[in-house]
Amino acid sequence: MDQITVVTGGSRGIGAAIVRRLAAAGHDVVFTYRRDAAAAAVVEAEVGAVGRRCLAVAADVSVEADVERLFDLVVSRLGVPTGLVNNAGVTSPVGSFVDLATADLRRVVEVNLVGAMFCARRAAWEMGTDRGGRGGAIVNVSSAAATLGSPGEYVHYAAAKAGVEALTVGLAKELAPVGVRVNAVAPGIVDTELHARESGEPGRVARVAPSVPLGRAGEPAEVAGPVCWLLGPDASYTTGAVLRVAGGR
Ligand code: NAP
Repeated sequence: MDQITVVTGGSRGIGAAIVRRLAAAGHDVVFTYRRDAAAAAVVEAEVGAVGRRCLAVAADVSVEADVERLFDLVVSRLGVPTGLVNNAGVTSPVGSFVDLATADLRRVVEVNLVGAMFCARRAAWEMGTDRGGRGGAIVNVSSAAATLGSPGEYVHYAAAKAGVEALTVGLAKELAPVGVRVNAVAPGIVDTELHARESGEPGRVARVAPSVPLGRAGEPAEVAGPVCWLLGPDASYTTGAVLRVAGGR
C-alpha cells in the first residue's frame, strides 16, 4: 500500500528529521510550516531528491480553516492519507507560572493541544475504514515534560502535552475498530532551535544535558526513528502507547 503521511511542523528540528526519515522509508509526505518558507523549501527539495512526492504547506495548526485546507490539499494533490504526525509545537519564555502572560498560555495550549486535535479529527475522518478510508496511524509528539511537569519553566506546556497523551490513549481506543492506530512519543531534551526561538534560553540544551542519565541531549534523528517505527507495519499491534525517548530522564 502506498503511504501518504502528513507531518505538522516539518520545516526544521524534529519534524524535518521525521520528514526525511519517512521519505527514506518510502512515504510520500505533506508537511506544514508556519513562517520559515525557505527552510521548508530545502526539506521539500531533499524529499524530491530521494524520489518521493512532497508538498510543503504554510498552515497554522491552531487555525481550524488552515487544517481543513491542509487536508483538502493532501486529498486532492496526493490522495487519501494513511498517516499523521502531530509534531508542530511551541513553548514560551521560561519562567514561573504566576508570571505567565495570558497570550503565551493560550498560544501554547492552542498550538500543542488544540492543533493536534484539529489535525487528528480530520485525519481520523479521512483514514477511518467506516468512511471509506484505508486505515492508518497517528503519532503525536508529546514531551517528557508531560510527566516531569516543568516547574519554574513552563508548566502550561507540560499540561498541554499531558493533554496530548490523554488524547492518544482515548483516540487509540476509539479508532481501533476503524483501522487507525494512535501512539505518542515523548522526547526529552533535543537539540533544536526551539530552545532559542521559543523558550528564550539559547543555552538550555547545555544546561539540562548533564542531568540526563545518558549524559547528553538527543538529536532530532533519534526521535524520528521511533516515530517512523510507530507509523509502520512492525508496530501493527501497538496502539495507545506513549514511547519515552528521553535518554532515561
Ligand atoms: P522547532 O525546531 O521549533 O520546530 C518547530 C516546527 O513547528 C517548525 O517547523 C515550525 O515552523 C512549526 N510550527 C510551529 N508552530 C506552528 C504552528 N502553529 N502551525 C504549524 N507549524 C508550526 O521545534 P522542535 O524542537 O523540533 O519540536 C518539535 C516537537 O517536539 C514539538 O511538538 C515540541 O513540543 C516537541 N518536543 C521538543 C523537545 C526539544 O527539546 N526540542 C523536547 C520534547 C518535545 P516554522 O519554522 O515555519 O515556524
